[in-house]
Amino acid sequence: MSAIPQNDSFVEVILPLTLHSTFTYRLSANLLSEIKVGKRVIVQFGSTRYYTGVVFEIHDREPSYQQIKAVEEVVDDEPIVTHDQLSLWTWIANYYQCSIGEVMNAALPNAFKLVSDSVLSLCQKEIDMEALTDNEYLLIETLQVAGNQQLKQMKKMFPDFKLHQLVANLIDKGIVAIEEELREKVKPKLVKFVFFPSITFSEWCLDAAEKTRSAKKQGEFIQKVKNLSETAFEAFYTEKSVFLKQFDLSPSVYGQLVEKGLLREKEEEVGRIETYKDSLSGLPNLSSKQETVKNQVSEGFSLKKPVLLHGITGSGKTEIYLHLIQEVLDQDQKVLYLLPEIALTTQLVERIMAVYGDQVAVYHSRFNIQERAEIWKALAKEDSKFKVIVGARSALFLPLKNLGLIIVDEEHEGSFKQSDPAPRYHARDVAVYLAHQMKSNIILGTATPSVESYFNAKEGRYHLVELNSRYSGVALPEVQCADLSENYRKRKMQGVFTEFLIAEMKSALEDGQQIILFQNRRGFAPVLSCQACGEVEKCSRCDVTYTYHKGINALKCHYCGQQQAVELVCSNCGSADIGFKGFGTEKIEEQVRQLFPGVKVGRMDLETTRGKHAYQNIIHDFSSGKIEILVGTQMLTKGLDFDRVGLVGVLNADQLLNHPDFRAFERAYQLLTQVSGRAGRREKRGKVILQTFTPFHDVIRQVMHQDYKGMYQNEILHRKNFSYPPFYRLINITFKHTKKTLVDEASQGFATALRAELGEDRVLGPEYPTIAMINKVYQKDLLIKFERKISPGSIKKVLNKWKSKYLNETGFKTLKINFDVDPS
Ligand code: ADP
Ligand code: ZN
Ligand code: ZN
Repeated sequence: MSAIPQNDSFVEVILPLTLHSTFTYRLSANLLSEIKVGKRVIVQFGSTRYYTGVVFEIHDREPSYQQIKAVEEVVDDEPIVTHDQLSLWTWIANYYQCSIGEVMNAALPNAFKLVSDSVLSLCQKEIDMEALTDNEYLLIETLQVAGNQQLKQMKKMFPDFKLHQLVANLIDKGIVAIEEELREKVKPKLVKFVFFPSITFSEWCLDAAEKTRSAKKQGEFIQKVKNLSETAFEAFYTEKSVFLKQFDLSPSVYGQLVEKGLLREKEEEVGRIETYKDSLSGLPNLSSKQETVKNQVSEGFSLKKPVLLHGITGSGKTEIYLHLIQEVLDQDQKVLYLLPEIALTTQLVERIMAVYGDQVAVYHSRFNIQERAEIWKALAKEDSKFKVIVGARSALFLPLKNLGLIIVDEEHEGSFKQSDPAPRYHARDVAVYLAHQMKSNIILGTATPSVESYFNAKEGRYHLVELNSRYSGVALPEVQCADLSENYRKRKMQGVFTEFLIAEMKSALEDGQQIILFQNRRGFAPVLSCQACGEVEKCSRCDVTYTYHKGINALKCHYCGQQQAVELVCSNCGSADIGFKGFGTEKIEEQVRQLFPGVKVGRMDLETTRGKHAYQNIIHDFSSGKIEILVGTQMLTKGLDFDRVGLVGVLNADQLLNHPDFRAFERAYQLLTQVSGRAGRREKRGKVILQTFTPFHDVIRQVMHQDYKGMYQNEILHRKNFSYPPFYRLINITFKHTKKTLVDEASQGFATALRAELGEDRVLGPEYPTIAMINKVYQKDLLIKFERKISPGSIKKVLNKWKSKYLNETGFKTLKINFDVDPS
């Protein structure tokens, strides 16, 4: 008996819409044998649009309403989404309060999402028409004759074709591309291969001797070929780049050899997933401390708990991961290795590749949609060669079968949280759920655990493992402060540099050491501070920094909405020298060049790292010593490992502390510790100089003394007193519309309703965020706080009730109301 109901059959289809449900379609008898959960189908929605959806369920429950449309087409031969993935999507939609369609949208690579106005085009000039089926032939011919076509146009031309399936196959074969691909200008990737002409080895040797008599370089090459065996000669077929390396040939000599007919070449289309070509390096041996830690990690696994690995910078967490990976591979299982996006383009991936070579698949947003689809498809196969999947947060959505281990590296990183669009998920938290679902192990690793994770460890939900020494045996860098207020007062500043920092920079350079200068990305944040004492105005009720609002020329608290006029004198020291502080990396770079003429300076920030390889190039220039002083933002801190950095300078540590956010201190500690950790990783102990107005600030002291636990204690108290995570859960509700009055009215009404239902204390706002209007759309936020013991489900029910009430009311229909669960 087939599992598919035989009578009236229906399917639930996930469509890429924000409505909170799946959609029911009838299944005609002829599709019964093809349909399977996880396959894509084409369905009509409304009167005109067609969508690609994914089959969520097959059932025989006839809906009560009439006019159920039928599934038009089944796209795939095999499901592209597994049952496990569907249940993960369901969980995410549920927890993060969005539609499963939005989750699908985030999960599927764009190449899988054909829509009716996708434009088809040919991406090969020479198409082997013989190899096409009849229907494919007709389709291609149409494109050749009539040029690019809209999918829906084609549907009209060939109404009885299984058009989407056909097109999907042609896309797979690299013959046809859809609109998005064109925008990205994706062409099939061609690679040159080299081989010898089809004559015997001895004939070739004679011929070669004849043709290259006087050319020395060519002669050397021929000698090398003569060392090949005859079979090797005949079977020879290798990629050009590899070939040049193997025979140590320059491109020009190579060109001459091709011209003389001694070498042949052929262009071939290759997969876009880059294969690893360098030699493998094997696993490093662990130190005895690392070995102990690895065993402790395994203990945690056997307790079926997520493991939190708290290992200081340079302790060799990566090496421990590499060993853990090996154990999983030995069990014939897979590993998912999650990293912050930017760390993916660097050293770390190279280190993993160097050990696991071709078994590694890398998945991140700088890949084009075709590459991503290719990885997805490869993983969906039972016998995929990819065993170690390294990726940013979206890699969670890949079809992961037989998963043995998830590694979340730099688990404290804020960038694991997606803030827009929905699903607004936190990859670390989803990973913990996924591990639970797939019964796999999970390790969260970092030098600076998030307060949440450390709390979980303290509470016994996670298994805590600590590693407190660097692999090299070198001590953590010495952290010192340079007091900005003193330097300003005594007029000892040169631009944004204190005398102390300049002196340290000089001596580092003389010593042949490299320097990293760090400036917070939010260098321009409009925070008002006293130039004399560094005092920053704070809200009396929330203990967060006021933000300056230019429009109203006032200071404002984003948590309670309290406002205050801009003071003309400092409330702390009475100085009138009050101003907006903020200087960017560009200005710093300029000043460094003036202070150190002739020294090679580089800059790394959002601006200088656009483009596929820009980031890597800067990293490379710095590791190879082409850059001596590197000025940069947050990007500098992500898992980089340089040999020769003797000094790290933080130009203004206070900016991190003065951010209006309950996580400001935690973040500041993490960032300062991570950036400090780039110094002195090998032979010599490094130095870190923190320029600050508040050298006695708790966080500054904690960074100086590597006192993570001190920071944690302070924070946890504060979080408890002020009702923040991990004791309370937060949900941020945003209201968006181009009409300001609508946003005001709705958010106010909503707030009143929620206050009545959830209680006064659990609702904060509504408030305008710092940037209240983006692209002429106004936004207002409402923050819901509730105790962990209250089930999130019951709160969500209330929120959803009011949301649909508002959206159904005339006047508010076009309003956007979004929920952000666990906002960052
Ligand atoms: P972390 O990720 O904990 O900051 P890394 O894994 O980057 O530390 O290790 C710091 C440096 O020490 C790296 O250059 C790494 O290659 C080296 N290292 C750590 N452990 C070992 C080991 N067992 N064998 C060889 N080198 C190691
Ligand atoms: Zn002051
Ligand atoms: Zn306040």
